Amino acid sequence: MGEDRQDISDRNVRDLWTRGKFWEIFGFSSGDFTTLELAKQYSALTKAYQDDPEVRKIIDETFAVLNAPLTRQFYEGCRELMRRIRRESGGTISRDIEHGIWRSLWNWVSERWQEPPEELINSIKNRYLLPEGTDVIEIPQTWSDEGLKPADLDSILDSTRAAKAFAKETKCQSCGKFDHTLRIVTFPYVISIIIVAFKRFSEAGIFCYECRRAKSLKWGIISLLFGWWSIWGFFWNISALVDNYRGGKILSEYNDPFVAQLAWAHMILGKIAEAKACLAKPLKCEFSKEASQLKKELDTRYAQISPAKIGKFRLGYLTIVFAVLGAYTIGGMALFGWTPSPQIYTLTTNVIPSGAGWVSTSGGEYESGAQVVLIANAASGYIFDHWSGSASGTTSSILITMNLDRSVTANFKAIQTTLGVLFSDDFSDEAGVWDTYSDEYGSVFYEDGWLHLTNNNPAQFITGTWANQHFTDFTLELETKLVGGTDNNWHMVICRYQDSDNFYSFRTSGDGYYSMSKMVNGNWIALASVAYSSYINRGVEAVNLIHIECIDSNLSLSVNGHLLWEGVDATFADGDVVLATEALAGTFTEVAFDNIVVSEP
Ligand SMILES: [Zn+2]
Repeated sequence: MGEDRQDISDRNVRDLWTRGKFWEIFGFSSGDFTTLELAKQYSALTKAYQDDPEVRKIIDETFAVLNAPLTRQFYEGCRELMRRIRRESGGTISRDIEHGIWRSLWNWVSERWQEPPEELINSIKNRYLLPEGTDVIEIPQTWSDEGLKPADLDSILDSTRAAKAFAKETKCQSCGKFDHTLRIVTFPYVISIIIVAFKRFSEAGIFCYECRRAKSLKWGIISLLFGWWSIWGFFWNISALVDNYRGGKILSEYNDPFVAQLAWAHMILGKIAEAKACLAKPLKCEFSKEASQLKKELDTRYAQISPAKIGKFRLGYLTIVFAVLGAYTIGGMALFGWTPSPQIYTLTTNVIPSGAGWVSTSGGEYESGAQVVLIANAASGYIFDHWSGSASGTTSSILITMNLDRSVTANFKAIQTTLGVLFSDDFSDEAGVWDTYSDEYGSVFYEDGWLHLTNNNPAQFITGTWANQHFTDFTLELETKLVGGTDNNWHMVICRYQDSDNFYSFRTSGDGYYSMSKMVNGNWIALASVAYSSYINRGVEAVNLIHIECIDSNLSLSVNGHLLWEGVDATFADGDVVLATEALAGTFTEVAFDNIVVSEP
């Protein structure tokens, strides 16, 4: 390199430009050069011609052409052809002819972005080199596409067009400039004074280095002045200042794909140093693979070009001074126990019905804005139904934001299962399975969803009704109440009924007594003597929940969840269920039964 380098002062830039000798403008007459040297020459030339704007413009345009990788590639191709033509013609071409050949070649290439085919080269050569009067092939106006690769051509033209359009459309939101320093950022700032503390972000947008420098300084100074003066503000402020110190908080999600495009556009436009600057840091986005490939390619092909510099931002010393000042203030406030804290809200959680499940947290105190995940867990036998109180919805996990005191209730419901239920009746169907009748001793009838039994106090005659349901081992639950008449009576559940002379009888009374007997061959035998229990609700309309178990020879009676009697008797192993009543005093009693459920034990 350099044996045929001319001094800058000897070069006629305008002349070289019109002759298409772009490399020569920069002092290279052979292809032996590097882009770094090109850049150095560019710098020397612009200095030399700084008072001649017209030449400056030529230098800039030539540099742009040569520094664009694609242009450069084709330009080098043309140079190679030119050298060949010169060699084949014996090296005796005049400057004018060489000028003409070059222009033809370069015009063709720059119009089509395609290396000229052999046919064209010969045509050009003949046109300029054969003696006058010789027939030559005309250079076609529109060249045959045969041998061309239209797809390549299109993609080259498309990407050039796209890069130019991108450069035109993309600009600093503040000053309108397009360059490699554009980034998508926002500027955080903090204002906190004793009890007021908030962190906010200024407008987000695309800003160039100069504008980012101005804006990060502005928002940084606001934070420096107003950000320190509470505990929370202090910590927020540190992160806000770090972001402004770096020229704004980079919104990576938007910024990284943008910067990948920025790098690509700069590369296509021949601005290698700028493209490299864009790719200096790895990008995390959908284009990250392409970006790192591009970086690798640029690093290999243009090893000597270092990335363009992006200047520093200006929050340096000020930050340190104010940070120390802020730290002192907070330290002082802490010493005097003056530690304001953000608004606290209380969360309480409840479960309905009690014991049906639990919520992942029983509640607590949270800072304003805290988000809490609540998960409802059902206990065995229940499923989650819905949230109520300060929350709603039917999904078992929800997210709530603590900007108020909140009380949240998880509502569960029992799993409705028929598994294990042998028989049930809520007595709503009046055409049901129970015998209904009315005679001189009493009656059985449905009313208001209950099964009513009356007994007119005849000696030794009880009123009963059958459902023809036969059970061996079971638990039986039902509700019973006194409807009217004497409370000196029996509400009877007869189990393992063989016939009217053989059965067990579980009994409670309207005035709070219970007993347990069996009838064997027509004779009453007490298994438990008559006793009073305060667990039995007394009086008209007082409902009692009866729970009876007959499992093998183990028998028991519970009322309202309290075991009143249990014992062992093996007389009857199975039989029907009969509901019955008996008035022991007065002239009449009326009782009713509801919601009988007989289940497998
Ligand atoms: Zn700007």
